[in-house]
Amino acid sequence: MYYNDDTVLFLDGKFIKAKDAKTDLFGQTLHYGYGVFEGIRAYKTVNGVKIFKAHEHYDRLRQSASLVGIPFTYDSEELTQISYQLLERNNLSNAYLRPLVFCSPNMSLNAPKEVSVMIAAWDWGKYFSNQSLRLCVSSIQRPNPKSIKMEAKVCGHYVNSIMATMEAKERGFDEALMLDGNGFVAEGPGANFFFEKDGVLYTPPLGNILPGITRHTILDICKELDLPVEEKLFRPEELFDADSAFFCGTAAEVVPIESIEGQPFNKSWKNSMGLIIQEAYKCIVLDKSYSYVIV
Ligand code: PMP
Repeated sequence: MYYNDDTVLFLDGKFIKAKDAKTDLFGQTLHYGYGVFEGIRAYKTVNGVKIFKAHEHYDRLRQSASLVGIPFTYDSEELTQISYQLLERNNLSNAYLRPLVFCSPNMSLNAPKEVSVMIAAWDWGKYFSNQSLRLCVSSIQRPNPKSIKMEAKVCGHYVNSIMATMEAKERGFDEALMLDGNGFVAEGPGANFFFEKDGVLYTPPLGNILPGITRHTILDICKELDLPVEEKLFRPEELFDADSAFFCGTAAEVVPIESIEGQPFNKSWKNSMGLIIQEAYKCIVLDKSYSYVIV
């Protein structure tokens, strides 16, 4: 699914065949989850292939590494150029890019001496196969921000996300909505959350969530289109009287939420503020003007 015999990836300064790439089984990342990564999308736009917000993603990768003490020296422009070359070598246009910074063999808990970077790319359509999502409120909370660096996209943090998604599927839902340690709504296992009530969009503030690049793009869209939006803490009970809601993220893009714990929303998606955001987001990633989006 992710590669075939011809796929090329970038590993430590070289483009090599994915099937020939090797890693050491004694790496700190494999054993302890001590690595950082990104998820980036490229689109075939009216102006050619464009990697959406490549610099923002690579800045976050560098920031993630720095926050947890992983020495990583590439700059964002260099990584962006490598990413464009990677797409070209694999003949990809609409694609997902996965950079991963991982650490050298080291079974101790001391700082790593050497780090590696790999970037892979593949054709990845919709992240969620369903048109709209049936969520449950997860019993698994987001981690305590005093225990981990919430703003960092660290490999090991995703054990928490995997457990929440597994629990949701076991309970017959599509995905989980996760709370923070104080019982406020935080985010999805791999996406940020917005809901609409009486003409205003609400989203949790930074602190217990990954500061998503898509979330930021949506806040910019709201400013541009004069759509009222507020960052605030709220409890899941508040959602049972909401008008609509959606998840957003690089992989997920903007995806409607159909219900939470079986409770549907007051409005249909086609009448929601989320639809306007979804349309505008599509335009932005495809380098098209979105002035026609009617508000
Ligand atoms: N929250 C979590 C936990 C995520 O893994 C992601 C995906 N990176 C997001 C939010 C959305 O972030 P972004 O819009 O930067 O992809």
